[in-house]
Amino acid sequence: MRFLSNPCKLHPTNKMVLCCKKCQKAICAICTTKEHEGHGFLDIEEVCTEKFRARFEDIRNIRDNVLPQSRVNLAESQRITKKTKDNIGDMKRIMMEKATRLKELVDTILTESLQELQTYEVPAVSGAENQEEKMVGYVSRMENVLEQYKTSISSENSEKFLSDMKKTPTVILDPIPALATANLSPFTFSEGELRKADIRKQFGSLQKSTEREKS
Ligand SMILES: [Zn+2]
Ligand SMILES: [Zn+2]
Repeated sequence: MRFLSNPCKLHPTNKMVLCCKKCQKAICAICTTKEHEGHGFLDIEEVCTEKFRARFEDIRNIRDNVLPQSRVNLAESQRITKKTKDNIGDMKRIMMEKATRLKELVDTILTESLQELQTYEVPAVSGAENQEEKMVGYVSRMENVLEQYKTSISSENSEKFLSDMKKTPTVILDPIPALATANLSPFTFSEGELRKADIRKQFGSLQKSTEREKS
């Protein structure tokens, strides 16, 4: 690399072949005894060549080392960003699926339980209603008998009393129907304990992945 020297602006007959150490600018030989006296001087060609080499080295380093490695790291960091977002997105999706599945299972259990209960509900209710009907009939019959008996003893005339008694013969009383309360609804609902920790176990939970990331 060769550098050309321009004429000095202050002393146009001289070319600027020197570099002032203090001012770091091109000067001519006359300048060294005037404006730049005592500043210290170097050969301008050597200074320029040295600065050129240093700058050229910087350019080569950035172009050949710094930028290529930076671009590799940029690509890697972009990959990491995408992977991070994908991982979190996957976790959200799985959580939603688990929650949906849990709700579905609860609905299924409720439906099955109601269906099972219904198979007992019809016979249990109709059995209880039959028994109630039987008791209504029995009470009603006993009330009639009571009224007839009371009427039959209302006369103080012996002839009339005997005739009334004849009209209302003694009824053989049926025994009071026994109640079958215990057998009509032989089922109870045994409640389960709903604990958040148990549901959480079924659902899953977040874990810190310290080891997994290194593989
Ligand atoms: Zn000069
Ligand atoms: Zn100077």
